[in-house]
Amino acid sequence: MSDTITITTAEEREAIIGAVREFADTELAPFAAERDEKHLFPRESLRKAGELGLGGIYVREEFGGTALSRTDTVAIFEELAKGDPAVAAYISIHNMVAWMIDTYGDETQRAQWVPQLTAMQEFGGYCLTEPGAGSDAANITTSAVRDGDDYVLTGVKQFISGAGEAAVYVVMARTGEPGARGISAFLVPGDAPGLSFGPPEKKMGWHAQPTRPVILDGVRVPASALLGAEGRGFAIAMSALNGGRLNIAACSLGGAQWALDRAVQYVHERVAFGEPLAEKQSILFQVADMRTDLQAARLMVSDGARAVDEHSPDATMRCAMAKRFATDAGFDVANRALQLHGGYGYLQDYGIERVVRDLRVHQILEGTNEIMRLIVGREMLRPSGSASLQRSGGSSAERSGGSAMRSAS
Ligand SMILES: Cc1cc2nc3c(=O)[nH]c(=O)nc-3n(C[C@H](O)[C@H](O)[C@H](O)COP(=O)(O)OP(=O)(O)OC[C@H]3O[C@@H](n4cnc5c(N)ncnc54)[C@H](O)[C@@H]3O)c2cc1C
Repeated sequence: MSDTITITTAEEREAIIGAVREFADTELAPFAAERDEKHLFPRESLRKAGELGLGGIYVREEFGGTALSRTDTVAIFEELAKGDPAVAAYISIHNMVAWMIDTYGDETQRAQWVPQLTAMQEFGGYCLTEPGAGSDAANITTSAVRDGDDYVLTGVKQFISGAGEAAVYVVMARTGEPGARGISAFLVPGDAPGLSFGPPEKKMGWHAQPTRPVILDGVRVPASALLGAEGRGFAIAMSALNGGRLNIAACSLGGAQWALDRAVQYVHERVAFGEPLAEKQSILFQVADMRTDLQAARLMVSDGARAVDEHSPDATMRCAMAKRFATDAGFDVANRALQLHGGYGYLQDYGIERVVRDLRVHQILEGTNEIMRLIVGREMLRPSGSASLQRSGGSSAERSGGSAMRSAS
């Protein structure tokens, strides 16, 4: 993709971030509490995000993508999350799907789906996790059986973001041998006969987007719905996660920065023991540490983004390190911002508790933070010269997805 992304100047980048900030300030932030309380999925706001070019941020331009670098992308997600981390996180998942179809799809698939996704006229879903296979994603059991010119898909996908709202689902299903090499990816339309959705999960956070099981009961799709080659589905799914992890990490940065800004304001206003909290050195130390931790996390996220932009062979490891570090730091900073608000931090009126709830899941999905450690450790301890599945072939975009293939949704 390096030959197709736009390298922005500092001025262009500032203009892009300014437009995203205005969108977050006007379209996301004012309604975040209501969306959280009423569990509203903001279709209209998402369509406006599409008009702004946020439906295919790192998708090529031919079918409406914005073709920005991952370095610009993470800066965009940080700004979006300052407005509403739950909506920003859904935009991330949608972008993963648009990118997968643009990168691995043939011309017909790209023409059919990518323009609608980049415009956010339609939404996307990413279906890897199953009830019996989360971290151990290479062990999925959803099957896709060839029947004449079709495949027939049967199984259950668990925890699917945007389920019931999406027009297209990238579904990873088993077409062959056990393990990663027997998995293929399929484009399943949201209205396919046999496709249905379980009830929305009742969650701690992320109320602005539905999370539901996706049930495939003999869903028949034409062979032309196969994304990439048979047996490449796991590699495709993993390569999309590099970007997804960076975006989620950036969403943690944005949510936490917002909470820290509120805390800084609050400690100036709140008087205790005859002076504003801000006068106390222990408070000053706390906000200094919070800012420092976020800055360190931001640098790691930028490093991961640079690794993907440069197709670095260690991109997967650097993205995993950034995801683990930034989502831990983001949750910790938001939680400390809540503590600095005392009892008021626990009230919905202040918005901090919502952000804490929203950021908590970032430590779990797109690969748990334990799995991020597994990826880093395996990469460090891998015998020199041993090749990963992705390095044995595939596109340059796949190769930039690196190794650590065993687990990770
Ligand atoms: C709100 C939400 C939205 C989601 N959206 C999507 C989506 O759109 N699409 C999708 O495909 N999935 C989605 N997921 C699924 C998510 O990716 C999984 O929940 C995650 O990968 C963990 O899988 P699991 O829940 O099965 O936990 P498990 O894999 O069962 O893990 C349980 C615990 O064991 C730990 N663990 C597991 N294996 C190891 C190991 N080898 N070493 C050390 N520790 C280990 C884990 O870190 C975790 O702490 C979503 C999840 C949530 C909560």
